[in-house]
Amino acid sequence: MNGLRMWTRSVQPLLWRSKVLRAALTLSSRSHGSCGGVSGKSWIRPSGYDTGLKTFNSLTKQKEPLILSREGVATWYSCGPTVYDQAHLGHACSYVRFDILQRILSRLFGVTVIHAMVITDIDDKIIKKSWEEGVSPSVISSMYEDEFKKDMLALKVIPPAVYLRVTENVHHIVAFIEQIIKNGHAYSTKEGDVFFDIQSIGDRYGRFGGAGDSQGEPGNTNKRDLRDFALWKPSKPQEPFWESPWGRGRPGWHIECSTIASAVFGSQLDIHSGGIDLAFPHHENEVAQSEAYHQCEQWANYFLHSGHLHLKGSAEKMSKSLKNYITIKDFLQSYTANEFRMFCLASKYRSAIDYSDSSMSEARSSLGTISSFIHDAQAYMRGQLQCSPVQETLLWERLAETKSSVLKSLADDFDTPRVVAAVMNLVYQGNCQLQPVSKSGGVVRSPAVFAAIISYIRDLLDVFGIDLQHSKDSDSGRSSASLEAVVEQLTRFRNEVRTYALTRQDAPPTGSSKKPGLYPERLPLLKACDTLRTDLAPLGVLIKDRGATSTWEITEGKQIQRGEDEDQKTSS
Ligand SMILES: [Zn+2]
Repeated sequence: MNGLRMWTRSVQPLLWRSKVLRAALTLSSRSHGSCGGVSGKSWIRPSGYDTGLKTFNSLTKQKEPLILSREGVATWYSCGPTVYDQAHLGHACSYVRFDILQRILSRLFGVTVIHAMVITDIDDKIIKKSWEEGVSPSVISSMYEDEFKKDMLALKVIPPAVYLRVTENVHHIVAFIEQIIKNGHAYSTKEGDVFFDIQSIGDRYGRFGGAGDSQGEPGNTNKRDLRDFALWKPSKPQEPFWESPWGRGRPGWHIECSTIASAVFGSQLDIHSGGIDLAFPHHENEVAQSEAYHQCEQWANYFLHSGHLHLKGSAEKMSKSLKNYITIKDFLQSYTANEFRMFCLASKYRSAIDYSDSSMSEARSSLGTISSFIHDAQAYMRGQLQCSPVQETLLWERLAETKSSVLKSLADDFDTPRVVAAVMNLVYQGNCQLQPVSKSGGVVRSPAVFAAIISYIRDLLDVFGIDLQHSKDSDSGRSSASLEAVVEQLTRFRNEVRTYALTRQDAPPTGSSKKPGLYPERLPLLKACDTLRTDLAPLGVLIKDRGATSTWEITEGKQIQRGEDEDQKTSS
């Protein structure tokens, strides 16, 4: 019954009281054993569709079964960027990690994720930047919103179902604040501020562990409680403003998310995500506002928070204010989106992650190992790579084990590091079976099992947003540049040899009907040149002899196949 206690200072309609009573009674009969406490902070296990997954919920600080309100659909809200500068790797990490989670939910667990994201396009930092640059805030915000979207595209982050801008929703925000005041959880001051009244919600405040902290908001002494936070602030001269019942001003930061998430999803949300630094006070305040507005016991059922990205050796998270950041654009000069995703997969989405060149090299090398296995297996399937007989049954078993362990790991709070380990192990098992032998006929071959393994690995990586097949931007960018240099040198050498071999003997004495011929002792060189041309063709290097000179090209879209030399094989 304690659920009722929380809203004592509000004026509640009778209907709402009975709704809460029902919820409280249901709670006592159904509450999850480990969080069945009776404080205002207890979590109500949602009723609905059990996905079979467990996920760490910041509201209970433990793994909970992921239960969605509607079968096969997850409503998901995430706080978007404040668009006043280039996004950096810290942002990239959070957005890519949640993108991976959403892909897993939709592709492997059949859950349609409806994702809405807010773009904060009005804010102190945007205003400051616009003054520095001598342009209007909207010029700054639209430019960096555009940059942000390009960055997300370059990182292959699936765009949300809808992006919403704060400046286009101010009328909704004003109405939202008015309702919170009506419900008795906010107050306005004669200076034109509106504050959320934290005391009015009792012990419901502090779900994310910051209850004792004071926001401070220096300079304002009109608050009833130091922890009270601004829903609306009066505009200072020269600042953009909107009209409101409390005078000209603009929304506080937290209220935009509550309003816009509610405008899209109503009074109930399955999943809310963001970086761990947003948990308090931002998400704490979002919860307070939304539950005060909707008069509901639990607005968002699950809060998922991603860990910070640190530059290795730095104790601080990557951030603009600390000036210890790498922009996404700079990063993509050196590494690919595939490699960044592999780097993200190698740690749990909740953990802090150390960024360094060596951790990126590890990610690159894992992808390289997978690619070379795929190339070798394809060469084997085509019959270009002769191997001793393969233990086919063993490989089929390994594949089945990997599939089931991957699903199990992902259902356990999206444990991607375990998945990466399982895939690398499968690749290792496959490589062990590809033991080249010198050409000999009559060996039993097992191409199908390798085809199955390749398809599975490709599909799985594709779920994570890593496309090995069409990764123009991936390793191929750099390796094809060096490959071109090698082919150029090789062709030049071959040209010289060929020209030498094609030199004709001195002209015969006048009167002779014989044409000058080639030097017979140079013919084997000519033959070797032809063999090289023939052998390079299946590897995607096309040499065309045009008279005495030769041209070359690397066949478009064709992956360069590995040769059969044992020393080229990557063992993992
Ligand atoms: Zn937010």
